[in-house]
Amino acid sequence: MRDPRYDILFEPMAIGPLTAKNRFYQVPHCNGGGYRDPSAAAAMRATKAEGGWGVIFTEQTEMHHSSEITPFIELRLWEDKDIPSIAKMAAAMKTHGALAGIQLAYSGINGPNMYTKEVPLAPSALPIRTFTNDPVQARAMDKTDIKNLRRWFVNAAKRSKLAGFDLICLYGAHGFGIFQHFLSRATNQRSDEYGGSLENRSRFAREVLADLRDAVGDTMALTLRVSLDETIGQLGFSNAEVRDFIAMNAELPDMWDLAMGTWEDCSGPSRFKEEAAQEAWVTGIRDLSPRPVVGVGRFTSPDVMARMIKQGRLDFIGCARPSIADPFLPRKIDEGRIDDIRECIGCNICVTGDMTQGMGRCTQNPTWMEEWRRGWHPEKIAAKGESQSVLIIGSGPAGLEAARAAALRGYDVAVAEALDSYGGRVARERQLPGLSAWGRVADYRLYQLGQRPNVQMYPGSRLTAEEVLAFGFQHICVATGSTWRADGVARQHVVPMPINAQTPIFTPDDLMAGRIPSGRVVVFDDDHYYMGGVLAELCAQKGCDVSLVTPSAFVSDWTANTLEQSQIHRRLAGLGVAIRLNTGIAAVQAGGVETCCTYTDARGLIECDVVVLVTSRTSNDGVFLDLMARQGDWADAGIRSVKVIGDAAAPAPIAWATHAGHRYARDLDAPDLGDALPFRREVTRIED
Ligand code: ADP
Ligand code: SF4
Repeated sequence: MRDPRYDILFEPMAIGPLTAKNRFYQVPHCNGGGYRDPSAAAAMRATKAEGGWGVIFTEQTEMHHSSEITPFIELRLWEDKDIPSIAKMAAAMKTHGALAGIQLAYSGINGPNMYTKEVPLAPSALPIRTFTNDPVQARAMDKTDIKNLRRWFVNAAKRSKLAGFDLICLYGAHGFGIFQHFLSRATNQRSDEYGGSLENRSRFAREVLADLRDAVGDTMALTLRVSLDETIGQLGFSNAEVRDFIAMNAELPDMWDLAMGTWEDCSGPSRFKEEAAQEAWVTGIRDLSPRPVVGVGRFTSPDVMARMIKQGRLDFIGCARPSIADPFLPRKIDEGRIDDIRECIGCNICVTGDMTQGMGRCTQNPTWMEEWRRGWHPEKIAAKGESQSVLIIGSGPAGLEAARAAALRGYDVAVAEALDSYGGRVARERQLPGLSAWGRVADYRLYQLGQRPNVQMYPGSRLTAEEVLAFGFQHICVATGSTWRADGVARQHVVPMPINAQTPIFTPDDLMAGRIPSGRVVVFDDDHYYMGGVLAELCAQKGCDVSLVTPSAFVSDWTANTLEQSQIHRRLAGLGVAIRLNTGIAAVQAGGVETCCTYTDARGLIECDVVVLVTSRTSNDGVFLDLMARQGDWADAGIRSVKVIGDAAAPAPIAWATHAGHRYARDLDAPDLGDALPFRREVTRIED
């Protein structure tokens, strides 16, 4: 039964000529699959439809070949040939009464055109602005180009309609869409009627919306996604200017879609941004226009969502990440199942699918982007096979997810955990600065396990192979995690580095266990994800004099993929951490470290009292290896399978562990596929 406090979230609302069934609005988001994996992307959207979203959007859709963002994999609508694959997505979105939206993107100053080799077109001639500083500049559009672009938008809108979409979102936020490029004085330095005054800078948006209204506006709703603030001061499209723009063009689109001006700001990780972080930026905008307003803010709490609507901040609750972590979020609120919501932890691993052109992953929802490939549904799972009992050793993300999914299938599940508390690495990492929301990985799963009669939990049980053989479980899942190395082995040193025993060495495990160093601390980061930066932050907070040394050219290098690298650098610099980039450690000496330049090997010295090595991890696979050595005893013990998963198999981020746990449970009693590919794949059709 739905709590009446949330009724407001389920009130229908008109958007132009159409009506959305509720206020849950899945804003456009990338997924790494895009045009390469159209059926996988479509099936992912279908789960959102089933989960109760009122409006569901595509990722950004490149609407003309003269502007594309290779290597990033989005959707393409360049010619009629592209219609069938996106029509499949539109149909998937509409399966449960949701409105299907397509986001049309012309990337302008953000499109380097690495694939089409076309000269990029933008309001003004400037270097292309991408993550990779591509050495390409855009040509300033002349009047003919603008006329052409208006026509290309009409063509794309007509194709969108043919494909079955209900809404069109014109992209002008995050720095990625041409509408923002025209609106911002930073990227529009024109002196004709398209530049200068705000009135002039708005002209292009007004013209395109008028064109589209004529072409498709009788049946389709038109939304404009505008930047809430470009966050580059007065030169950029500021929050004050977006308010002027909306007031001046109050009835321009059928709906205002508000999002921060840079993607890093809009999709800020929980380490740097709270839920509803954009509230101050959107407050009051709804009063400027009669049109409904949607905004985002990593909303996972139904109370915050209801408040945003009751207080007149927003009309629709825009969600990307919360809809990835839990595609069934609206339905769970509707059914009064608030405790079952799988809350987004704000880690931004989902973004890395796009940034690395891999396949999207979600730490909380391991079925994301596997709906079609592997047939994984976020809420449903096949009933158990013919065997009965599973022992899971270790209660980290891998073990807990394996247990949750196996229990859901109906197996009798026992979880043995060496420590007195559950959660493995997330129980420790959630204590680190900025990472408290990560604890939701354990909280969600522990709650689910607590609801099931077929689960037994055994804390304080550090198992040996001998004990496991004595228990009589049919399947043994070893999810015993990993331990940070203290010998410096990672990428710079593939064998242990020279370490003088007089200098104390700390590992991340020491710090997470509460052993905090003091004095002058060198944090050596040869891991390159978040841990080095987080521990430098922790040590600085605790009053240490911290130097962060890394062979990379960037602090916490890989976090560029989670959109937080620049914020991490800024935070550490603000805390007074001395940052030494392109620098390795040749040796830990008595009283300091001998540094070496990554490029020239030039040596230097940093005096310190303690070295924190954030390098690599060793799998805790002892129990697994011991069990494998005793395969001859399995039959007598009733054991059918022993598997090692997660960090105990190979250390990786938390999302890899939840994926491994989920896969383990799905594969129980499954037929052996032999050498066959374990997932479906879409292969390009060869042209005649
Ligand atoms: P993952 O990320 O793969 O889930 P974690 O390191 O988070 O791995 O979790 C592993 C968990 O396994 C830890 O809580 C650890 O205490 C527990 N563990 C390790 N060895 C044993 C063992 N022999 N018996 C029971 N639990 C163990
Ligand atoms: Fe949220 Fe992390 Fe999942 Fe993205 S990957 S949806 S940030 S939990």
